[in-house]
Amino acid sequence: GYVAYAEATPEPKLISSAPVIDRVDNKKQKIVVLGTGWAGTSFLRNLKNPNYEVQIISPRNYFAFTPLLPSVTCGTVEARSIVEPIRNIVRKKNVDVQFTEAACLKIDAQNNKIYCHSNLENNLDGQEEFVVDYDYLIIAVGANVNTFNTPGVMENCHFLKEVEDAQKIRRTVIDCFEKASLPTVSDEEKKRILHFAVVGGGPTGVEFAAELHDFVNEDLVKLYPGVKDLVRITILEAGDHILNMFDKRITSFAEEKFQREGIDLKTGSMVVKVTDKEIFTKEMKNGGEVSATPYGMALWSTGIGTRPFIKDFMTQVGQGSRRALATDEWLRVEGCDKVYAIGDCATINQRKVMEDIAAIFRKADKDNSGTLTIDEYEEVIKDICERYPQVELYLKSKQMKNLVDLMKETADVSKGNVEFNIEDFKTALSKVDSQMKNLPATAQVAAQQGVYLAKCFNRMEEAEKNPEGPLRFRGEGRHRFRPFRYKHLGQFAPLGGEQTAAQLPGDWVSIGHSSQWLWYSVYASKQVSWRNRSLVVTDWARRFIWGRDSSR
Ligand code: FAD
Ligand code: MG
Ligand code: MG
Ligand code: MG
Ligand code: MG
Repeated sequence: GYVAYAEATPEPKLISSAPVIDRVDNKKQKIVVLGTGWAGTSFLRNLKNPNYEVQIISPRNYFAFTPLLPSVTCGTVEARSIVEPIRNIVRKKNVDVQFTEAACLKIDAQNNKIYCHSNLENNLDGQEEFVVDYDYLIIAVGANVNTFNTPGVMENCHFLKEVEDAQKIRRTVIDCFEKASLPTVSDEEKKRILHFAVVGGGPTGVEFAAELHDFVNEDLVKLYPGVKDLVRITILEAGDHILNMFDKRITSFAEEKFQREGIDLKTGSMVVKVTDKEIFTKEMKNGGEVSATPYGMALWSTGIGTRPFIKDFMTQVGQGSRRALATDEWLRVEGCDKVYAIGDCATINQRKVMEDIAAIFRKADKDNSGTLTIDEYEEVIKDICERYPQVELYLKSKQMKNLVDLMKETADVSKGNVEFNIEDFKTALSKVDSQMKNLPATAQVAAQQGVYLAKCFNRMEEAEKNPEGPLRFRGEGRHRFRPFRYKHLGQFAPLGGEQTAAQLPGDWVSIGHSSQWLWYSVYASKQVSWRNRSLVVTDWARRFIWGRDSSR
């Protein structure tokens, strides 16, 4: 696929002679957006400021609704139904937006330039390389699959990141059933071919296993009566449980449901090697014994990694030792002005309260008395809560309403203490940082970051005239907007058989058929266009009436 191409060519060949693409309007500032996934598309859809010229560069000229990719693997939903051309999405805008289908191969942060390569296979005679300059760069290129360098995974396993991956899985599943039905194949071999192994018990792996189980039991058993009893689905998970990012109730429900249905759950076993016919697992406990299991098709879904050209960029901006591209809470890449990073390719380097505690105290202590009154303190509380999301989580864990209560408890204000010093302040907030968490790599986070950044750009002029922002504890004096704050709206885990687990804010958990209907309605409403919405709903209806299409 395209992405594989970009990974395979980390060093562009023609860099020095490649032409620099002219700007449309020299008076306008130019924003370059890399990527047409959740983060990039959400930015583009929300950008309204006509004072910018925008160029989008992505090897994919469409947006894909990834939460429905597992449904594409078994033909519950067609691939075409979940993609929308990016040119459709940006067409109606009053902002100058151009799209170029190419992959960025290198970012030159020093000279505000990026090097690109078209992935189109035609005779362009060297015209496929070009350079684009920018005033602002928004990196929204998502993540790579991560094989953790496990031997044989790249060559032998399927992945589920892109639409092409889902289509390939669909063809392979049918291939396996046809192969197993050949008269020449031995029973032993049939069993191997019809063993579907899923590596990784996260949401993607689990949903695929559930979807495949439904496909087999609702449709394929009728079409392949001779081999239906030989089918086996196994989930291999190194940890103790599947779906460990969900509430325990959901994990146990899923585990029990899968056990009942005959989906084989092997927790505590780590895949260490994959060959074309066997998958090698190591027991995490009991002496670490390694065993080989024959398989027909394997899906690798164990987490994400950083793209090579992003690694290279990280080295340029002094982030070489980090695992993921770090931004501040305003989503600006650390160590690089005017470059932003959103979505799966980035992580917010959240500040610790304890690192800034002296500065916070100084700012709150307006009269420089060395102590704070409750009034002085109350004035900075809002800022603290806004800047440090862990504070809210900590208060919630202690079932407190606000920071005043926390301080009153620590500084014995009730006993007549009306002021407190920096030591009290430190004691009160000392455990707050333990609640710090990285945001998950989800579409929800990516989309909210895109909206946030678009709003910042929509108000850029206004903000430049009024440089006082809410919090400037780091003394940089240029944070003009409120920092990005993620709002978790809940999470679904479809478990097959028209049952879905839903975990909504406030630890509200619901599992079963009613959540499945909630899932249908939420996912229909989240489609980016009415065209997608009607296609997806039609696919669902078609599946209810006629079942899934099992042709290749
Ligand atoms: P992506 O959406 O991956 O987009 C990256 C973009 O960058 C793509 O357009 C790509 O073509 C482009 N690109 C790649 N390389 C380059 C390059 N060199 N130059 C320029 N452009 C480049 N999240 C949820 O919240 N809920 C779910 O139910 C859910 N289900 C999922 C199911 C599956 C099967 C998968 C794979 C993911 C799911 N996710 C879900 C996660 C979600 O899809 C990601 O978190 C989200 O796509 C991240 O958005 P992004 O814009 O950062 O990256
Ligand atoms: Mg994107
Ligand atoms: Mg996407
Ligand atoms: Mg991220
Ligand atoms: Mg004071």
